[in-house]
Amino acid sequence: MNVLVINCGSSSLKYQVIDSDSEQVLAKGLCERIGIDGRLVYQPKGGEKEITDAPMPTHKEAVSMVLDALTNEKTGALKSLDEIGAVGHRVVHGGEKFTASTVISDEVLKTVEECNDLAPLHNPANIIGINACRDLMKDVPMVAVFDTAFHQTMPKEAFMYGIPYEYYEKYAIRKYGFHGTSHSFVSKRVAEIVGKPYESLKTIVCHLGNGASICAVENGKSVDTSMGLSPLEGLIMGTRSGDVDPSVIEFIANKENLDAAGVLSILNKKSGVEGISGVSSDFRDLEAAAGEGNEKAQLALDMFCYRVAKYVGAYVAAMNGVDVIAFTAGIGENTAIVRKAVCDRLGYLGITLVEEKNNTRGEELKISTDDSKVAVYVVPTNEELAIARETVALVG
Ligand code: AMP
Repeated sequence: MNVLVINCGSSSLKYQVIDSDSEQVLAKGLCERIGIDGRLVYQPKGGEKEITDAPMPTHKEAVSMVLDALTNEKTGALKSLDEIGAVGHRVVHGGEKFTASTVISDEVLKTVEECNDLAPLHNPANIIGINACRDLMKDVPMVAVFDTAFHQTMPKEAFMYGIPYEYYEKYAIRKYGFHGTSHSFVSKRVAEIVGKPYESLKTIVCHLGNGASICAVENGKSVDTSMGLSPLEGLIMGTRSGDVDPSVIEFIANKENLDAAGVLSILNKKSGVEGISGVSSDFRDLEAAAGEGNEKAQLALDMFCYRVAKYVGAYVAAMNGVDVIAFTAGIGENTAIVRKAVCDRLGYLGITLVEEKNNTRGEELKISTDDSKVAVYVVPTNEELAIARETVALVG
């Protein structure tokens, strides 16, 4: 079955068509600047990337252009839309309502809408994308795959905040966690690679990309993760601060004459390694600047790695042990100095790396020695494939 995977942002839409039998990507691309002007990027398997500028006032025109490109006589990956068997949608926040992926119905959409409060920037865009697809592909089954669902197995002592209990009851304020599709995909792959039952392993997945989070997966279940009510908690990220003392918000607000939303915007968009270094949020730029002696770039890298190692230590404690640590996403898959700096701090766990293996990029690989007490792997993530698999499992 061919699955169209859709990931909608507020002004963008990423898509892939995946043949679920061969798990090959037949075509992929994105729409950018939706609601501003509009640009479609389309790339069929083995073909050239095509870029078309065209007006996209809403996500509906964007989806329509994607479907036209997919069925274009010359370069389309499909002969007709009948070849799309199902659509899988990434949805950021499923609150406590969704503990797994689900087939989309009117009722499900209404429930997703009830979670908008928890992800005001992301969920409305996801819903617009779903509605646009439902309008244009009326008979095609659609599935919602939630970033939060995998973490719904966390125990209460891990997901509650130390604030009055009534805020949980009244407003559902708690840790939810994100990147669940990636943490689930990578931890399952780890079990396959090491040849042990998923239900018997203690794995720590370090999803280190522009957004970054860590997850403790014990016996096939997420038992803790570093992001919280929103993706701001936890690790230091590209432009997000990660954990700070909440008093910092009032302090900055008073000093800079801002309101809470203004400070949160700084913590989300102007902080992290970019805010510390003043150089960039991109680790390639940071590595280059640190190599040329830029002390703040080096400090940003050191702080990032220190925070990752600290969370890994916390999750070893949460699970009372760990069998495998897996690095994934842009930085986790590509940046050897980060993996090395993190693992050097974890020597007490009996971890030893093989330097030459650690110096490779983007490959599925064991980077620890065979006698390392904890095995360390690089496992490239593939959220689109994970969404396609979930979709087929539900409608196939
Ligand atoms: P993601 O959000 O998973 O796409 O990851 C983005 C981050 O990965 C950026 O900080 C990039 O610097 C980093 N990254 C991506 N590709 C590479 C690469 N080839 N080498 C080093 N870092 C990379």
